[in-house]
Amino acid sequence: MSTFSAKLIRWQKLHGRNNLPWQNTRDPYAIWVSEIMLQQTQVTTVIPYYLRFLQRFPNIGSLAAGTVDEVLALWSGLGYYSRGRNLHRAARLIAEDQEGIFPRDLEVIQQLPGVGRSTAAAIAVFAYGERSAILDGNVKRVFARCFGVDGYPGERKNEILLWRKAEELLPEKSEKSRIEIYTQALMDLGATVCTRGKPKCMACPLQQDCIALRDDRVDRLPAPRPHRPLPEKETILLMLMKQGKVLLGKRPATGIWGGLWCLPEMPVSEDAIAYCTRHFGMTVEPLAHMPPLDHTFTHFRLRIHPRPLQVVSYPAAIKTPWQDEAMWITLDDALKAAIPAPVRKLILRHGHPQSGQLPFEKQL
Ligand code: SF4
Repeated sequence: MSTFSAKLIRWQKLHGRNNLPWQNTRDPYAIWVSEIMLQQTQVTTVIPYYLRFLQRFPNIGSLAAGTVDEVLALWSGLGYYSRGRNLHRAARLIAEDQEGIFPRDLEVIQQLPGVGRSTAAAIAVFAYGERSAILDGNVKRVFARCFGVDGYPGERKNEILLWRKAEELLPEKSEKSRIEIYTQALMDLGATVCTRGKPKCMACPLQQDCIALRDDRVDRLPAPRPHRPLPEKETILLMLMKQGKVLLGKRPATGIWGGLWCLPEMPVSEDAIAYCTRHFGMTVEPLAHMPPLDHTFTHFRLRIHPRPLQVVSYPAAIKTPWQDEAMWITLDDALKAAIPAPVRKLILRHGHPQSGQLPFEKQL
């Protein structure tokens, strides 16, 4: 066994995390769900979502039989909703094409919607003890520092180098039984010791080998993503209030907030009151002003202008051009539905009943 893997395995046994809800099982389904939830999300955030999800969907069959709405409601607040949609889609594919049995082959696992190379490898390691290399964001950081890799790790040539390193450093085949501990060690080290800010180098098992520490470059590695100004967009979200309920519409399955329940959106170039009359046949009155809310997506920044409006009269059936389904829902129930994070913020900030009287709705 290489010194690198030996040091990590020894450290993990003493200092690593060994009692997380998705550990101490070989169930590929339970491991798959955890790996998807852990993408870009910290362990402490994931745990309650994971437990609720596994309680409602304990296996592939139940997930495949459930609706995407149920999945997204359980995902609400966790962010990156495409993960939930992909999980549901993948469960249906496994149920239809593989008789509900989670695939064993690494290549096949990697073909599942939402599963990349590193996630597939992690599932194969923990479920089947396969000797496969992982390279998630945390591991990239550990390797970039330990081996002094300059440049942004997401850049193609650096990624190739880091993957090669990840393959080379795997414990020997004869040590196959230790691949799970080694993989967990890398994850734990990246999450708890070699952290983005203030890494605990004096507690690190790799401190004697670490090039960044030796050269006093820990705070400069890995190099940040090259700065690229994000385009900015603006939109209006209508908070249409009627007898203590707000109007939510279901977004189309694709595009931002796909499949989630959202406040109606309209262009900033138009007047909200006239828009409601023209498009929904509603008569509305303005309510207290709400300041804009900024939200950053991977590829652009969105400035949201909320427009709280009280509905005075409305047609019996709400028919809108931007959604197939619409519902009037109490703010409490809206918070339990599959809603995007900015809509959640708007509801909490300006009108959650638990915070007292609704500041933006006149008493009816
Ligand atoms: S010594 Fe410090 S910088 Fe180097 S791998 Fe360990 S925690 Fe990271």
